[in-house]
Amino acid sequence: MATINAEIVAIGSELLLGQIVDTNSAWMAQRLAEIGVNLFYKTIVGDNAGRMREIISRALERSDVVITSGGIGPTEDDLTRELVAEVTGRQLVLDPQLLQQIEERFRKRGFIMTRNNEKQAYIPVGAIPVENPNGTAPSFIVEDPRGVIISLPGVPFEMKWLFEQRVIPYLRDTFDLREMIVSRVLKIAEVGESSVDDRIGHLIRTSTNPTVGVLAHPGQVDVRISVKTDDVDKAYALIAPVEEEVREAFTHHVFAIDDETMEGVVGRLLKAKGVSVAVIEDLTGGMIAQHLQRAARESLAEAVIAHTEPPLRRVLRHCRHPDRVEALLQDDAALTEELAFGIRIHSQGDLGLAVRAIPDPTRTTQNLSPGKTYMAVADGQRIHTREYNFAGRGAPDLTRVTMYALNLVRRTLEGMVGVG
Ligand code: ATP
Ligand code: MG
Repeated sequence: MATINAEIVAIGSELLLGQIVDTNSAWMAQRLAEIGVNLFYKTIVGDNAGRMREIISRALERSDVVITSGGIGPTEDDLTRELVAEVTGRQLVLDPQLLQQIEERFRKRGFIMTRNNEKQAYIPVGAIPVENPNGTAPSFIVEDPRGVIISLPGVPFEMKWLFEQRVIPYLRDTFDLREMIVSRVLKIAEVGESSVDDRIGHLIRTSTNPTVGVLAHPGQVDVRISVKTDDVDKAYALIAPVEEEVREAFTHHVFAIDDETMEGVVGRLLKAKGVSVAVIEDLTGGMIAQHLQRAARESLAEAVIAHTEPPLRRVLRHCRHPDRVEALLQDDAALTEELAFGIRIHSQGDLGLAVRAIPDPTRTTQNLSPGKTYMAVADGQRIHTREYNFAGRGAPDLTRVTMYALNLVRRTLEGMVGVG
């Protein structure tokens, strides 16, 4: 099996100015890893002939494959085709077939093709033309004695399509790549990164094939088990015993695998059980409701954002102790339970979810900021509660609270028999 070294050159001054983020390179990097191609350099260069010449020639010298994105459009500042031709010592020539494809696209959409669009049908002599059915700028591949240059458009969906449909098959064929990386990701809720390390640190440190890695997000830790292989079935057979061990370490905290999300899992459970849910939240400002809505729109019975007493009192009218409202308003833990109970009755839903996050007003930390967060889910039989010692207005804490709340809904749904 061959191993090759690739390099990505992202082209565009707007990338250097920080006006857009170079997501293309990150996306390509993942795809390259999956097919076992080494990536040693990623460069961003502006739309400047001198610097593009410099970086493309250097890339060609030190890497087997150079993949550029951007700058192949019809405008004056799109210089990639000119520079690739120059660096590989070739003339640009009109490719009649590409021209026809571009003309065709314009005709189909009822537009008149302008002269500058013709420019896109020019590719370096001897280059392999690559039609771009999602846009007008075609791509091309130049096989130079020093290495291969593949020039792709900057527009992300055009680039991704070409990469998957044309570049990966080309690389596999040309370089006889059979290796790929097969991964299983186990997503874990309510376990911190350090306790993940505590429980499976030995796997992380000693495993070689599969390797085990951990990636922490707010409210979620991903354990990735990866195998380098030339055979998918063999890969999953290697992954299975390690996956088993990780699952044993985290039991019900594993809420999803691979591309599944917490939202997706909760949505699936809500739909499968025909259960509706009502939510009352505060600091998260509708974030929990939004996730529930995306998870299962028809299952969202009601959503309230309540920071002040009037909406709280309205919901508390339906609680178990309407005579103790004044005392409840002074006791956040008890209040949260009664709100869960009350919103369930008020909405006539199957589940009532209440979340109150009370940040420490003297702190402005964004992540795990000190404070108190209470949550409760009422399911008609019991009230399940959680209490945490953080509450912040920053995005990580808001996401964390939302994840924990959705997870409490998930746990309630998993334990639930015949509600409704
Ligand atoms: P076009 O035919 O649209 O001009 P192009 O190949 O010339 O295609 P650019 O003009 O460089 O591509 O970029 C088009 C758009 O694609 C940019 O405005 C930007 O929104 C997006 N884009 C370009 N490069 C990247 C990148 N590296 N990461 C994410 N988005 C990008
Ligand atoms: Mg452009």
